[in-house]
Amino acid sequence: MSIRIDREFCAGCGRCREVCPGNLLYAAESGKTEIRNPKDCWGCTSCLKECNFNAIQYYLGADMGGRGSRLSIRREGNVLNWTAVRPDGQKTVISVDKKQANAY
Ligand code: SF4
Ligand code: SF4
Repeated sequence: MSIRIDREFCAGCGRCREVCPGNLLYAAESGKTEIRNPKDCWGCTSCLKECNFNAIQYYLGADMGGRGSRLSIRREGNVLNWTAVRPDGQKTVISVDKKQANAY
């Protein structure tokens, strides 16, 4: 499992680099973020939640039933919209209000 950072969308804000618990993310010479070794990413999704530019996607591999789906998170105020897109293009969106997230 790993993330992929889209250089086209990355604004170089550094928010993802601050939250990665494994210190896997770094600023390239361009100022945009890259990942040191994708194999070391354990998919905590912290970086996805911090990115306001939709530049990070997380791959849900076959080993966890994701069949190659891509997960991204778009924030709207306190609401995180978790979007999974399957290889066939089918999309599922789950919206979670961060203020209610601990209620479950
Ligand atoms: S949070 Fe998003 S825009 Fe900011 S540096 Fe990371 S990938 Fe780039
Ligand atoms: S998903 Fe977690 S471990 Fe992987 S790069 Fe992002 S913050 Fe780091």
